Amino acid sequence: MIAPALPVPYIAAWSGEKAAERRLVCRADGIAYADEQPDDRDQYGVLWNGRARARGVGRPRFGEVHPVRQREAMAYLLCQVCGAPADRDERGTLWLLEDNRADWTGWPDGLMTAHPPVCLPCARQAADLCPHLRGRYVAVRVRESDACAVLGRRWAPTALGTPQRLDKRVIPYGNPAARWVTAGQLIRSLHGCTVVVLDDTRQPTSPRRR
Ligand SMILES: [Zn+2]
Repeated sequence: MIAPALPVPYIAAWSGEKAAERRLVCRADGIAYADEQPDDRDQYGVLWNGRARARGVGRPRFGEVHPVRQREAMAYLLCQVCGAPADRDERGTLWLLEDNRADWTGWPDGLMTAHPPVCLPCARQAADLCPHLRGRYVAVRVRESDACAVLGRRWAPTALGTPQRLDKRVIPYGNPAARWVTAGQLIRSLHGCTVVVLDDTRQPTSPRRR
C-alpha cells in the first residue's frame, strides 16, 4: 500500500529557489544590501532575506522555510500549507499549534509563533494524514494577532567595517537590533485564544460506524 503523499507546504522552500547571493554592507544605522531596492525592507525598515522565488522548481525542502512566502502567509494570514486564506470564524483565525497547554495558564495567549495559520481543509488533512499530530497538536482560534517580531540572522560590523555573521534570533520590531538582521520569518503574537476541537466542525464524509 502506498502511503498518501504529504502536500508540500506553501511556505516550504524548493531546491530551485536559490539563496540570495547579494552583497551585504554595514551602514552607520544597520545592515543593508549594496544594491538595495525599496522592497528589500518591510514597512518597519527591517531588511529581508531576498531568496529567489520559484515555487515547484526542483525538489521541496521540507525543513526549510521560504522567507518571502512565510512572510506573505503571516502578514496576510494565509494557510501555511496551501496558501489560501486561513479559516476564520467568530472565534478567530485557525491555528494548529504544538500542544503546550502545560506551559502557562491561559496558553497560548501571548504566545509568539513563526508558524502561519491554516485553512480548515488543510487542518483536517493534516489530522487525517498524520495521526500522530492528534496527540501533539491542538487547534486554536485566535481572535487577534500582532506581527510583532522577526526571526532573522544578526550581523555586526567588523573592525574593518565589513559585515560579520552572527546567530539567528527573534528580534521585536522597534528594537534597534532589528536594523542589524536579515529577516527570514515573520512572528506573530497570539491573543484572545480559544482551544477548539477540530472534529466539532467536521462534515461527515462517510457513514458513521457502529
Ligand atoms: Zn490550506
